[in-house]
Amino acid sequence: MSALAPDDMRRGWCPGTLRPMQTGDGWLVRLHPPRGALSPAQLGLIGELADRHGNGQIEISGRGNLQLRGVREETHPVLVEELFAAGLVDEAQGDGPHRLTLTSPLAGREASELLDAAALAERVEREGRGVAGLPAKFGVVVDGGGALALDAFAADLRLRAISPDQVAIGLPGGLWFGPVAPQAAPGVAATLLASFVVTAGERPGQIRRMRDLGPAELARLATSCRLEPMPAPAIRPEPEPVGVAAERSGRFAVLTGLPFGRSDAQMLGRLAALALRFAVDEIRLSPWRGLGFCGLSKPAAEALAAALASEGLVLSPRDPRLLVSACAGAPACERAAAPTLADAASLAQVLAPLLANGLTLHVSGCAKSCARPGAADLTLLGGEAGYDVILAGGTRDGPIAHLTLAELVRRLEPGQDIRARLDAAPHHRE
Ligand code: SF4
Repeated sequence: MSALAPDDMRRGWCPGTLRPMQTGDGWLVRLHPPRGALSPAQLGLIGELADRHGNGQIEISGRGNLQLRGVREETHPVLVEELFAAGLVDEAQGDGPHRLTLTSPLAGREASELLDAAALAERVEREGRGVAGLPAKFGVVVDGGGALALDAFAADLRLRAISPDQVAIGLPGGLWFGPVAPQAAPGVAATLLASFVVTAGERPGQIRRMRDLGPAELARLATSCRLEPMPAPAIRPEPEPVGVAAERSGRFAVLTGLPFGRSDAQMLGRLAALALRFAVDEIRLSPWRGLGFCGLSKPAAEALAAALASEGLVLSPRDPRLLVSACAGAPACERAAAPTLADAASLAQVLAPLLANGLTLHVSGCAKSCARPGAADLTLLGGEAGYDVILAGGTRDGPIAHLTLAELVRRLEPGQDIRARLDAAPHHRE
């Protein structure tokens, strides 16, 4: 199967395995393995391929997709062949989403899940892929109603189990409809998606996502699909997306975060070797930018968690790195004006108390902002000898100061009020 050149990019387009995206460090190839699941051997192979065809840098996105960076044009066709041969390609053709659904890393396995969210997601995926004209970035969250709540992930459409035989249908703006039977939910989802395409077609170029419709239009969309409004499902406690978690089979999984959602090929190889050694039966990709190692006894899960922590993976829900995003930066990316990963690691320590209170930090090597499309409470944009400091915005917003890393660290010392300290910073380069 041939790939398209990356200059096929246009607004709203998403990269995949067959259609890579040009970035500052070469082509970015996004992988969508079937069910978001890998064997230990497949994980090891991905590390090897990242090294052989790219710059050895691997990311996991906020939708749980793996991305190989720095892939070379001349070896991309061979990479695609090897990925197909290993059963690692499962993306829809055409201009729609490559993968429509987002699930928890333990979908279908989680002890507290109310129904099998993996099976439900596969049916939503199958029926949803039949809807022509969906925008590429469209996403459906399929939430099994367990402890790994997906409420914080943005979605055009949300299917949430509220009992083993009831699924609530969520639309943007906190609108809920239904409930419907799990068997009916994929068909209802596909009908809603098709109705969205028709509505969007009436105002070309204006409606790209479900959230672009107002509450009254969304309600009309739902009622045209014979759905009744219902109260919002009960609020669940904040999920703990890393640590040892119970599976419904009586086995255990180790949920991890990759530091800043990144690994290099060597680390991926070591993780694959650990998964083999501990007889992990499946590795799941996590939208919390990490990996889940499944099917373990309790002692094996605890031993593997310790081994993964010593590899530098995030195992504690209080680890400040969970709230920090950083792009590949220098030296991996030639566009980068700063060593973002190293600097993000220093800043995560300095800002740990504020991160624990919910502050979000984004460190970017250039304005392209590969690692975070939207705003963060504090965005740092690499530039000449330091960073532009942007509060409550993204890399394209106006900075309030330009500071060296040392000055930033000094101003952000624990106990200081971040806004007061940075607002007081001069609006010129220090
Ligand atoms: S945001 Fe970072 S990784 Fe992306 S092109 Fe810029 S420097 Fe490179």
